[in-house]
Amino acid sequence: MIRICRKKGECERVDIIDGKALAAAIRQRQKKDVEELKKRGITPGLAVILVGDDPASATYVNNKERACGEIGIRSRVFRLPAGTPEEEVISLVESLNADADMHGILVQLPMPKHIDERNVLRALSPDKDVDGLHVVSAGRLFSGEKGFVPCTPKGVITMIKSTGTQISGKRAAVVGRSNLVGKPAAMLLLAENATVTVCHSKTPDLAAVCSQADILIAAAGRPGMITGEYIKPGAVVIDVGTTKVDGKLKGDVLFEEAAKKASFISPVPGGVGPMTITMLLENTIEAAKNG
Ligand code: NAP
Repeated sequence: MIRICRKKGECERVDIIDGKALAAAIRQRQKKDVEELKKRGITPGLAVILVGDDPASATYVNNKERACGEIGIRSRVFRLPAGTPEEEVISLVESLNADADMHGILVQLPMPKHIDERNVLRALSPDKDVDGLHVVSAGRLFSGEKGFVPCTPKGVITMIKSTGTQISGKRAAVVGRSNLVGKPAAMLLLAENATVTVCHSKTPDLAAVCSQADILIAAAGRPGMITGEYIKPGAVVIDVGTTKVDGKLKGDVLFEEAAKKASFISPVPGGVGPMTITMLLENTIEAAKNG
């Protein structure tokens, strides 16, 4: 964590949650976990399915492949042409479900429009669903059963815990209610005994709701919408939003304003982003351990 100074000789009481450094530390431990598994004859394996040639998806997949290689996970990427029929993608998922060398399967989203993503996700074995997007994984999270948690919210909770903040008994607000981020983040906070408010585009007086929160998670994809008035003094603020504005990555939180009031804040870039892939590695190692 870095303590930042605003004026010469004067330090604000805010710490920046360095997602990059935290991710690097976790990956060191994961490398050792993989070495231990290999001694037992298990090489964790991750299969990634990419359909089409969306450049952003291709970059994400390359980053995941590289991260796997760095810690010794065997990854295999299936790059399929954009016109691949849905049934063919589902057949591939089914064959990977049966492949004992592949402990985790990730379907890179979004898929081309002619494919119903829900059908593809439903075809995954929940035991290999390392992205945590299968309805069974969502149900397990909802009912407090052990299962795979989506990588971004899992990273968010890890970041909050890294600050030493006790989540239990705190008020939390989550801005965004997607299946990928907002809803699972809310479930995880609830499981940690926070009192959680889930906000969305129809929430009236969002600033008033957010400014009550000891923990604020912004996942709306609206750059700069969380201004200083949304922040309770001393709050922990995690910015999940990433939107390209004039070629630069912007978060949902107006950093300079929020940092004046928060006790901990995550930046964009260098916050949640690096943690997401790290949690994918974590889920893949877990899948390999489950065997
Ligand atoms: P999403 O599916 O588009 O969901 C956005 C949510 O924000 C929706 O629930 C929406 O409400 C809500 N919202 C939008 N505008 C709002 C407003 N003005 N006030 C209150 N709520 C508002 O997006 P997502 O997949 O959850 O992703 C959210 C952001 O996180 C995006 O910027 C995305 O790029 C980023 N992200 C980053 C990572 C990472 O690794 N760093 C990973 C995943 C996502 P309604 O439901 O009412 O429409």
